[in-house]
Amino acid sequence: MAREFPLSRIRNIGIMAHIDAGKTTMSERLLFYTGRTYKLGEVHNGESVMDWMPQERERGITITAAATTLEWAGHKITLIDTPGHVDFTVEVERSLRVLDGAVALFCGVGGVEPQSISVWRQAEKYEVPVIAFVNKMDRVGADFYAVVTEIRKSFGANAVPVVLPWFNGPDLEGIIDLVDNKVVRYKEETQGVEFEELPIPAPLQSESEKWRRTLIESVSELDEHLLEKYCAGEEISPAEIRKVVRVATLKRKIVPVLCGSAFKNKGVQRLLDAVLHYLPSPADQPPTIGKNLKGEDVTHDAKDDGPLAALAFKVQSDRHMGKMIFVRVYSGTLRAGTYVLNSTENKRERVGRVVEMHANQQHMKEALYTGDIGVVIGLQDTVTGDTICEEERPIVLNPIEFPAPVISMSIKPESKADRDKLSIALNSMADEDPTFVVTVDPETSETIISGMGELHLDIIRDRILREFGVAATVGTPQVAYRETITTPSTVDHKFAKQTGGRGQFARVELTLEPAPPGTGFEFVNEIRGGNVPKEFIPAIEKGVIEAMQKGPFAQFPVVDLRVLLIDGDYHEVDSNERAFHTCASMAFKEAFMKGAPQLLEPYMSVNSTTPSEFTGNVTTDLCSRRGHVSSIGGSGNQVIHAMAPLAEMFGYATDLRTITKGKGSFSMHFEHYQAVPISVAEEVVVKRKAKLAEKEKK
Ligand code: GDP
Repeated sequence: MAREFPLSRIRNIGIMAHIDAGKTTMSERLLFYTGRTYKLGEVHNGESVMDWMPQERERGITITAAATTLEWAGHKITLIDTPGHVDFTVEVERSLRVLDGAVALFCGVGGVEPQSISVWRQAEKYEVPVIAFVNKMDRVGADFYAVVTEIRKSFGANAVPVVLPWFNGPDLEGIIDLVDNKVVRYKEETQGVEFEELPIPAPLQSESEKWRRTLIESVSELDEHLLEKYCAGEEISPAEIRKVVRVATLKRKIVPVLCGSAFKNKGVQRLLDAVLHYLPSPADQPPTIGKNLKGEDVTHDAKDDGPLAALAFKVQSDRHMGKMIFVRVYSGTLRAGTYVLNSTENKRERVGRVVEMHANQQHMKEALYTGDIGVVIGLQDTVTGDTICEEERPIVLNPIEFPAPVISMSIKPESKADRDKLSIALNSMADEDPTFVVTVDPETSETIISGMGELHLDIIRDRILREFGVAATVGTPQVAYRETITTPSTVDHKFAKQTGGRGQFARVELTLEPAPPGTGFEFVNEIRGGNVPKEFIPAIEKGVIEAMQKGPFAQFPVVDLRVLLIDGDYHEVDSNERAFHTCASMAFKEAFMKGAPQLLEPYMSVNSTTPSEFTGNVTTDLCSRRGHVSSIGGSGNQVIHAMAPLAEMFGYATDLRTITKGKGSFSMHFEHYQAVPISVAEEVVVKRKAKLAEKEKK
């Protein structure tokens, strides 16, 4: 069977929004109007179709991106729901990687809020064309024009209305469509399914004409005849306007802005239309570039009969379906029941079934075609970020980059019976979420879970209990500190031991050099000649790596340095791998302490919003957390941007609420590692030593 929808009739989109802007309600309405659900579930009743994990319902936030496919006006739209909370930024990132366009949803009252800023920046990074929807226009205090201005100011985006709100007194009557030059009234009796289009009432004409002109002017650089025609008073058809607005949106020259009320069923179908009119199809994307197994560039065009290239962007376990791998097919066809190559892991895998998700129902398919987003069942070794391709024509796509976790805590099963279940639960969650890492402290045998923030680990703890039914207690969250050196140092270390029979002998000379942040670790063997036989070199590297796991400064992992093996010596009888391993560890520790060691801590980018009367208090509080405020701005609510160490940000949610009498909100994400000031570092080291001593006693 061939594909149902031509490539140009596919839209893969995500909805980006600050928490509470109405994304869940909007997604529900999209499903409703396209016929996927027959009943409108109210979000606050915990009935939403899109949010299907119990704790998502409880918390009212969408944690896991659920892909759902719908049909509208002969097009297939796949909607990837992205979470609104910044601790799940990674979910937003991975969605943006596989989507072609995005809808930025704003609250008509709240406007541009912290999370909208973070997510918008992420969308810019991936150069995703965006259309905006100002929701909740039915609410008292909603101000469409203020939000449009805010979008322009906050993002430097050329936000241009394509519809306006239509008010009858204080009530939202419907919308004014500037392209069609009509007003649209939605019928309450049919929950907005039926609507009528009417000529723009006389009192509204001059205002709508003004905005229509703005729209046409904003795209005129892409089509000079349009403005000429408009100025000459000639009729311009909606199709003509749409065509050029589409080009402008795809080139990211404008952001068309719509508005309405998801909750009151107004303006939603216009958003669906706008997705088709203005957001790109997979056919609008440049050819997919990757590397073959020799590391050479290869390019695949978006064609069903071309070589297969698909990216796994999400792994989710399902009680009934097993391991579900969400993929986007960039080229070729991914057929059920065939063998494919996971080129990232270099493993041959069998595709069992392929399905399309419709909210939380699955529709079995024969194949996923170019441009499709769907789920593959049966891939055992595939994880997020892997490329699926044909064995004969391998390609590795750019992987998705995930930051390293910055916060960790210990977790202990409450009973023996819980122990095995806990390990299954943790492994399954780590499979799904690349920013969630499970390790075991080799000394205390404690299980340590690490993630991207307090809420991230909180949700995981919750899932362990509810989804996997495991009783476990967790320790206090700890910041993931790192150690590094600031100056080069060289050490010549001899290890010699005579214990009765055969002795131990090794000598190594190491130079340690600081490397730029984020580079990790590099080992370079610079020994020429045979001062150290080749077979001992790997043991030396292993000795160094082992010493790096627990840094000599305060036993935190060591990062960002180069280790050069300069020279060494050996003994015919007494030298062995063990001796070189030990000697290298000792040499490393000595050299590290000579290299002016330094403690590094994760720094977070924080955006806090507050009514202006609390700006001073919010800023003072951030400064007392060693934060550096870099900007304060915004019309109405003030947005304060700061960089602050994670160690000082525990409990910030509660404190901000208190300071702003519940009116403030914030978003925070990991930015980079930075040196801990000496006075603070001393404190951290003292505490760390006390903790380690306590553990030893046990
Ligand atoms: P999300 O956090 O972005 O997914 O937001 P939800 O969809 O859960 O909505 C948050 C709250 O706003 C819920 O109580 C919704 O009923 C309400 N809401 C959503 N859309 C609208 C709207 O258009 N108008 C009004 N007045 N309330 C809305």
